[in-house]
Amino acid sequence: MTDRRKFLKSTIFGGLAVSTSSVSGLACSTKPSPKKPIVISTWNHGKEANAAAWEVLSNKGRALDAVEKGVMVTEADPDNATVGIGGFPDRDGNVTLDACIMDENDNCGSVAFLQNFKHPISVARKVMEETPHVMLVGEGAKRFALSQGFEEENLLTPKAEAAWKKWLENQEYQPEINIENHDTIGMVALDENGHLSGACTTSGAAWKMHGRVGDSPIIGAGLFVDNEVGAATATGLGEFVIKICGAHMIVELMRQGYSPQEACEQAVNRIVKKYPNDYKNLQVGFLALNKNGEYGAYSIHKGFNFAVRAHDQDDLIDAGHYSG
Ligand code: ASP
Repeated sequence: MTDRRKFLKSTIFGGLAVSTSSVSGLACSTKPSPKKPIVISTWNHGKEANAAAWEVLSNKGRALDAVEKGVMVTEADPDNATVGIGGFPDRDGNVTLDACIMDENDNCGSVAFLQNFKHPISVARKVMEETPHVMLVGEGAKRFALSQGFEEENLLTPKAEAAWKKWLENQEYQPEINIENHDTIGMVALDENGHLSGACTTSGAAWKMHGRVGDSPIIGAGLFVDNEVGAATATGLGEFVIKICGAHMIVELMRQGYSPQEACEQAVNRIVKKYPNDYKNLQVGFLALNKNGEYGAYSIHKGFNFAVRAHDQDDLIDAGHYSG
């Protein structure tokens, strides 16, 4: 009995040592009511995407519908060079798309290496809802999309094609993503009913090898949702997000009592610590939202921003960063 008491005591105080702010938030009598609904998403284009998500959320809609509708705005924007139509192609000139979605019941769907469909997020949702699987890729994903009534179209815009042809002149492939050269949209939302969902969609790193898949369609890397705890999403060089299971790590840290901000910082710190020679030349940014509607964001380098929409808020915010 004494041992058990000791164990409980050390566990409780261990938790306090981790994060006094979030642990004190657990005291039900003093806990403020959650800020909901709320939606957050990556980069400048998050603002427009949030506006579409907000139409759903402010009408007491489901977070799942909000995040799908939200990121579809970015997928449909031909000027966005790393999401949907207009995305820069791989080194062979193919636009290949990755996307995933996850709801409040742990249902998830994903497509990777999908070509010629403008809304991979909606195909991912169909994978979630209409198949016994989580992930479909390439030709199989294409066949499934056609069977669901999605129509094929050419996603290589003249602007993206011209950029690719210019790249072909030197064909210098640097696996590092320049910090200005990526803008996957990751979006997470908490709805009026207190349910969380998330979506993430991208054309991935420009000039990637044909067949390369990044973190964005990988549940646990580019996106993770646990309705008891919170949700997280990622942007940046996907290989390094995958290596630390970024989004899942952040949600698990929030489960242990870390605030969304602290959890994002821990995930960035993990990359920095494990890859001291690589992190200087690559960007990764994380975004997190917890069950109380508290959010956080952090990146390796300066330049990552995110958009927040709630009843009292419609902001674009510069995230904190590890190095200048
Ligand atoms: N995370 C994406 C990928 O690695 C790219 C990005 O966010 O810029 O495919």
